Amino acid sequence: MDNVIYLDNNATTSVAPEVREAMAPFLGPLYGNPSSIHTFGGQVKAHIDEARERVADLVGCHPTEIIFTSCGTESDNAAITSTLDCYSERHHVISTRVEHPAVKNLCQLLARGGRGRPLYRVTEIPVDAEGLLDVAAFEEALDDGTAVVSAMWANNETGVLSPVETVGSLCRERGVLYHTDAVQAVGKIPMALRDLPIDMLSLSGHKLHAPKGIGALYVRRGTRFSPQIIGGHQEGNRRGGTESVPLIVALGKAAQLAKRNIEKETAQVAVLRDRLENALLEKAPDARVNGNRLLRLPNTTNISFEYVEGEAILLMLDQHGICASSGSACTTGSLEPSHVLRAMGVPFTAAHGSIRFSLSVYNTEEEIDKVIEVLPPIIRRLREISPFGRDKKPAKSKAR
Ligand code: PLP
Repeated sequence: MDNVIYLDNNATTSVAPEVREAMAPFLGPLYGNPSSIHTFGGQVKAHIDEARERVADLVGCHPTEIIFTSCGTESDNAAITSTLDCYSERHHVISTRVEHPAVKNLCQLLARGGRGRPLYRVTEIPVDAEGLLDVAAFEEALDDGTAVVSAMWANNETGVLSPVETVGSLCRERGVLYHTDAVQAVGKIPMALRDLPIDMLSLSGHKLHAPKGIGALYVRRGTRFSPQIIGGHQEGNRRGGTESVPLIVALGKAAQLAKRNIEKETAQVAVLRDRLENALLEKAPDARVNGNRLLRLPNTTNISFEYVEGEAILLMLDQHGICASSGSACTTGSLEPSHVLRAMGVPFTAAHGSIRFSLSVYNTEEEIDKVIEVLPPIIRRLREISPFGRDKKPAKSKAR
């Protein structure tokens, strides 16, 4: 599809041309197994080592602290279940109300005593109306039975950031391991894990211009870890399975590019995001931003257009080749607004009309101006046909 304006980079990103080029030889002549003794395999291992160094450099840790996985979901699952295995006498898990399903659904499974594990007590920490974590509630929830805290770094729907340093310090004081799902944060904001009280961190290649099917888990040196995929000695005995060399090399290259682009991300991408956001707030009727506008990722804006359906907006944007996503649950096919917006108490009428725009370094000013031109008339048209559009007052608006 030519001429697509892709503003859905929190869902997935395009594979950078440099990344495609870097991985190509490993889909062709360099197909050796890095565990082989012969030189043919051995030469491949050097490229895995280089990729590990590049990922470590991006997040600011030692290369041996990086374990390659298949995706962000696997990293999240491995971090939590490994910690439960290592601290089997503790039966309390703390997470937040706004986690991605990769964490949320696992915690809910644990709360039901799933997978033959004991019944876990799960505390989901609330957020305020701007999506900011309730640190006092978090501090109160930590107790001697807490095995692990999993609280995301950046929210995928709103881009709102967590106070990772504060959360991590509180965990340290109580001797509790802290995992953060940083799938949306890595590559978009600078980080130096060596200086932060974070024990484990998840990242995913396809959110930073590498292909799908590759992720990584940072495990701080000295952290107790129990492998979740049992097999060979790969990844320092922490994850069995022959390494996906092309994807690992791709992630390494993407990490190198992301490290180089991080300043551009904060400067150029945030400027485009703000241009889009400010223009839509000005030109579209009853538009509001969901989430704190300062403490968030530079590439994300989540805007509600009250009294219209997000899905309808997306379909009409699609006709112009514009890709975004909506905060009502298109993923489940139900009409429920997202759990993130509900946790923030966004009114029902606004949550239903919420659209997430997530930009990347590949977006241009022309693309943003096209959206600014096209979207406000779409909102006006949809409001005209909305049952709430004319007088703007629904008979009964449910605040959730
Ligand atoms: N965590 C967050 C915050 C995400 O946004 C995503 C993907 O959307 C994931 C985890 C899952 O990552 P993956 O698609 O690599 O499994």
